Amino acid sequence: MRCENCQAEITFPMALRQAMPHRFRCMKCGARYRVRAPRLGLFFLGIAAAFAALVYQFTLGMAAHGPSFILPFLVVAAGVWLVFEFLLHRHITRSGQLTPLEGRTAGGEEDEGT
Ligand SMILES: [Zn+2]
Repeated sequence: MRCENCQAEITFPMALRQAMPHRFRCMKCGARYRVRAPRLGLFFLGIAAAFAALVYQFTLGMAAHGPSFILPFLVVAAGVWLVFEFLLHRHITRSGQLTPLEGRTAGGEEDEGT
């Protein structure tokens, strides 16, 4: 899958740096897209369910082990998040499509540093 604007390959690390999973912004040229993929809603449901389960585990773990639980929990949570991001990215590159967002002004509002 490539950016329609600059033909840059959309890689997993690039996908990881997106703030919103249903929006994509090319790291090379800054072109913005809306991400469309079948069953994308299911992924969000799965992520929400996993998140709820993690929060639940966290409350239990904190009650049982106290602050020493935080670090291992964060490692596990980061792992779960990476797995979801990876699956989502694979799903989108296989069966999704990018629809360019009409930006009236190029550059502006939310530039995340240069
Ligand atoms: Zn691009």
